[in-house]
Amino acid sequence: MIDFTLSKSQQAFRDYVHQIALTEMRPISLECDRNERIPDAFFWTMQKRLSPAALPRVEEKQTQVLSMLLNEELAWGDAALSTALPGPGLAAPPLLAQGTPEQQAKFFALYADDQLHWGALALTEPGIGSDVAGMSTTAVLDGDEWVINGQKHYITNGARADLVITFATIDKSLGREGIRPFVVPKGTPGLRVGRIEEKMGLRASQTAELIFENCRIPKDHLLAGREQSKKAGFKAAMGTLDATRPMVGIIAVGIARAAYEATCQWVKEELPVGYPLQKRQNIETELEELWQEIQMARFLVWRAAWMADSRISNSKEASMCKAYAGGLVMKATSAAVRITAPGQSSELRQLVQKWFRDAKVFDIFEGTAQIQRLVIARRLFPAINIP
Ligand SMILES: Cc1cc2nc3c(=O)[nH]c(=O)nc-3n(C[C@H](O)[C@H](O)[C@H](O)COP(=O)(O)OP(=O)(O)OC[C@H]3O[C@@H](n4cnc5c(N)ncnc54)[C@H](O)[C@@H]3O)c2cc1C
Repeated sequence: MIDFTLSKSQQAFRDYVHQIALTEMRPISLECDRNERIPDAFFWTMQKRLSPAALPRVEEKQTQVLSMLLNEELAWGDAALSTALPGPGLAAPPLLAQGTPEQQAKFFALYADDQLHWGALALTEPGIGSDVAGMSTTAVLDGDEWVINGQKHYITNGARADLVITFATIDKSLGREGIRPFVVPKGTPGLRVGRIEEKMGLRASQTAELIFENCRIPKDHLLAGREQSKKAGFKAAMGTLDATRPMVGIIAVGIARAAYEATCQWVKEELPVGYPLQKRQNIETELEELWQEIQMARFLVWRAAWMADSRISNSKEASMCKAYAGGLVMKATSAAVRITAPGQSSELRQLVQKWFRDAKVFDIFEGTAQIQRLVIARRLFPAINIP
């Protein structure tokens, strides 16, 4: 059965989140971007309005698909604010993939009280981004504790995170097979927050450097419960990306849609009187093509999410949707900039300018476009040993 129509309860869910994006996110979007700060009041409001008790009930048991509906609307509101929301965030996929039931119960419990808590995922190191197999952060077992040493950078919510899922090698000579995920709680002696990046886009979302100096964590903070094979750690890292790439894809779709809608609004309301008809038609054709591409990107994301919900391996599809949506968001936002010629004059034009800056990173994080193509090619042509 193929079905891309949303049920009534899914539509109600999406509409509810859209209202939140419109009323809570858009009004503070530009100010947070300018100041690189998000008021605590926003986090409290969002925690309340997006709590399971407040969200409309959805019949379908499709966690990933629902998450895509949620995140497209939130990204339409503001992608930086949406990536900064409290919750386990990027810490969740490796915990779910590699945590034992006891570890999951223990670590997710932290997020169940009424306070604000964040999570983070620390894979990237200076010089080690795409090729995580070459990572140099080490974990050495010393009695009942792991001792972690190394440096991670560009970690989303790293400075706020109550738990940082940190990937480190237990034996460099093993290459990718030596990589393991560890849970490092905030405040652990030896874990230090370094530089907070000043970024071009997603400026309100905090991106931190984390430094581990003889950072000791209990032995049972190693996430290796589900699968004990030698490659389990590396697979956990890659499995995490299979889960997060559709998420990045749908955030890109949300921004692309915001830019598209703003451009349509500008054409309707602000295109100068007497603008040549032929030029107007060219703009309309371009917008129509963009709308088709936004739909295509969304369907690619939904398919990857549906596969994850159906427990079907989705590495190729996750990379395809991320690569496509990452390119599309740059195309849509740059068209919006060109057509509306943004300046400081109107809020709409300032938003368009912001979305253009926000878009670039969707071509970079969770694997650059080049890396997505490699993943896709490896899956399409397994017989050729693509390095
Ligand atoms: C805003 C932001 C938030 C981030 N959040 C997180 C986070 O929460 N956690 C985390 O762990 N990381 C995070 N990252 C890091 C991000 O995932 C990496 O920046 C990304 O994977 C690229 O790695 P790199 O920067 O080291 O670039 P490199 O890997 O050095 O790549 C540089 C260039 O070389 C190309 N390249 C590399 N290898 C190949 C190859 N084999 N074939 C062809 N081309 C290649 C790349 O495509 C790229 O164009 C974040 C980054 C940003 C900008």
